Amino acid sequence: MNTAQPQTILITGSAGFVGSHLVERFLKDGHSVIGVDNYISGQRQNTALFLTHPRFQFLEADVSQGIPYTGQTLDWVLHFASPASPPHYQEFPVETLMVGAQGTQHGLELALKHGAKFFLASTSEVYGDPHVHPQPESYWGHVNPNGLRSCYDEAKRYAEAITMAYHRAKGVDTRIIRIFNTYGPRMRADDGRVITNFVHQALRGEPLTIYGDGQQTRSFQYVDDLVEGIVRLMGVTYHEPVNLGNPTEFTMLELAAVVREIINPELALVYQPAPSDDPQQRKPDISRAQGLLAWTPEIPLAEGLKITTAAFREDRPNRNEPPDS
Ligand code: NAD
Ligand code: UDP
Repeated sequence: MNTAQPQTILITGSAGFVGSHLVERFLKDGHSVIGVDNYISGQRQNTALFLTHPRFQFLEADVSQGIPYTGQTLDWVLHFASPASPPHYQEFPVETLMVGAQGTQHGLELALKHGAKFFLASTSEVYGDPHVHPQPESYWGHVNPNGLRSCYDEAKRYAEAITMAYHRAKGVDTRIIRIFNTYGPRMRADDGRVITNFVHQALRGEPLTIYGDGQQTRSFQYVDDLVEGIVRLMGVTYHEPVNLGNPTEFTMLELAAVVREIINPELALVYQPAPSDDPQQRKPDISRAQGLLAWTPEIPLAEGLKITTAAFREDRPNRNEPPDS
């Protein structure tokens, strides 16, 4: 992205966790932002943060039905709309498939119409339960095409495919990132992801819920590192997928130990059954992003968790309601 020049950026999923951090960064950098969201997994309070900003505009819409934008010429369309936590996408499997399929196509068509660049938020889930470790972008993955997670994994695989098709066949200038587990302030308290669960359980003094034996691994990226990687990728021309994640890998038992150390060492652990098709290991190979963007995540887990915990402590009851209702 030419940061010297103010851009007009439309972002779907603007009321979500990652979307709201992008809106904040783009406004701070002097750009104009149009947010679009239907609140299926987002929060009205994330829109309220920016509503009075003179360079922010919000459209409440289901982007799977279309993107009702009629304003000035866009420079970028960023497609971040999609339920992202396993409990959310498994509650809304059809909507998740639709936003990855129709939603992505509506975003691509809008970009085509405006001569804008298109940016897709894909996911490490395209690697499924990977047999290659760590995962480079060249790995095609090991995905159950019809299991409980398939509504998300396959939607994103289709989204990548249609993005590359619009690039190859229609000349749309596209970017694709594969985001690995990312956390930070403004995650929904009830999103069911492991960091939100552990931190909220710890703050309430409840046992931490370990699914399965706790030996499965994830690599957790603080949201500011992700946002920096996204902004850098907008500044270069590159169409193949790029992994954005923190390569430091933790078992869920190790994560629980970090949370206990930061919040309350007395906390108990309680074991619950592993969800079906739960990936056993996940860790990004980030050499592509390092070479292309001179980017490396900078915020270690313990530091990011402290910031996140402080934000969760202050947060109002997080129940998808307007700020003053
Ligand atoms: P989120 O659920 O907090 O945000 C997604 C937003 O999209 C929500 O505000 C939701 O209401 C909105 N949305 C969903 N379907 C929509 C539709 N049809 N029309 C309009 N709005 C719609 O999730 P997040 O963690 O912020 O994830 C954002 C994006 O990043 C998603 O595309 C997700 O797949 C991707 N991603 C996130 C992570 C992560 O760890 N957070 C990891 C991999 C990929
Ligand atoms: N997990 C857990 N306890 C929880 C929530 C999740 O042990 O309270 C596990 C889950 O089974 C998975 C890992 O933590 O192995 C990451 O889960 P999350 O839902 O955060 O992300 P994803 O599975 O999409 O990577």
